[in-house]
Amino acid sequence: MKLNLNIQPLHTWIKTGKEPLVIAGPCSAETEDQLVATAHLLAQTGKVSALRAGIWKPRTRPGEFEGIGSIGLEWLKRAKAETGLPTAIEVATGKHVEEALKAGVDILWVGARSTVNPFTVQEIADALRGVDIPVMVKNPVNPDLSLWVGALERINNAGITKLAAIHRGFSSYEKSAFRNEPMWDIAIALKTLAPELPIINDPSHISGNRDLIGYISQKALDLDMQGLMIESHIDPSVAWTDAKQQVTPAALADIIDHLALRKPEIRNAEVNDKLAELRNQIDKIDDLVIQKIAERMQIADKIGQYKKDNNITILQVGRWDEILQKRTNYAKALKLGDEFTEKLLELLHAESIGRQTAIMNTSEAGQAAEKLTHA
Ligand code: PEP
Ligand code: MN
Repeated sequence: MKLNLNIQPLHTWIKTGKEPLVIAGPCSAETEDQLVATAHLLAQTGKVSALRAGIWKPRTRPGEFEGIGSIGLEWLKRAKAETGLPTAIEVATGKHVEEALKAGVDILWVGARSTVNPFTVQEIADALRGVDIPVMVKNPVNPDLSLWVGALERINNAGITKLAAIHRGFSSYEKSAFRNEPMWDIAIALKTLAPELPIINDPSHISGNRDLIGYISQKALDLDMQGLMIESHIDPSVAWTDAKQQVTPAALADIIDHLALRKPEIRNAEVNDKLAELRNQIDKIDDLVIQKIAERMQIADKIGQYKKDNNITILQVGRWDEILQKRTNYAKALKLGDEFTEKLLELLHAESIGRQTAIMNTSEAGQAAEKLTHA
């Protein structure tokens, strides 16, 4: 499946000359001084392409600081006038969109708590109809690719073609070092569905902790993401929201300076030849793996038929335990991780069981009919 989005490349709506593209600014606009002073320091680093700030803050519990509100839009205007940095804010309602447009905000984003709700996303999309402004869509809080895709489609269907996705990680029940689990495979799946859609990584909300921002940023660049959105505050220790994950503009510049920029392709012929040769080997092995899996399934089908003829249940737990044990030991000896081997075997086993169940439950008349339809 491919996603059919009508979008313009990133460089048509944001200065991407600096590498990597960085959007930075405080989690929340708190005071005029805090915002404007942070903006100046960020602009002085020469590494930032746009200024972000939360004006309306979605908070889990009531009674916390819920954003400074519309007055912050005036402060953003001043920050932009004095630094030349285009501005970016989160919008969560049609009214937010209206106010942001009136105030001349340059880039809007849909927050993770909004992306989960198609009513909210549609309301934002409706308010954007007929407007030419870049919009970035954060992934939903829960690990659901379809919700992310759906939100992008709704915004795109409203005529927004300056579109990007922001990967900010996903809520997870399991304890981990991260505030939001990156679940990189979901971002990769989005990239596979829509290769032309820029993905910007938000290492601040993934890590929840300033010490991990460099690590996550590097990983995002290595996965060929197009930019970073990083929270930066003139004095993070007194920030009103997300204090632990914000960095000073100087620390931000240091993080960016330490990132290695690896290109998806390079021009050095010798390196490319070596890479091509290794990829060739991988292609051949993948073909063999698929061929062998197909052979394994054909044998599983035969076993299914045999079990059916002899009235034996499909699943024999003892046999499955034995497979798992033996193969995991073998794989371990070949330096494959236990978790990977178990997942792989479970996938193979589930497919075999599914096919055997189909064989078991197909009557002879049914099988004959199937043969006819496939003939
Ligand atoms: C934010 O960017 O400050 C924010 C609220 O992020 P998210 O929607 O990713 O939680
Ligand atoms: Mn934040």
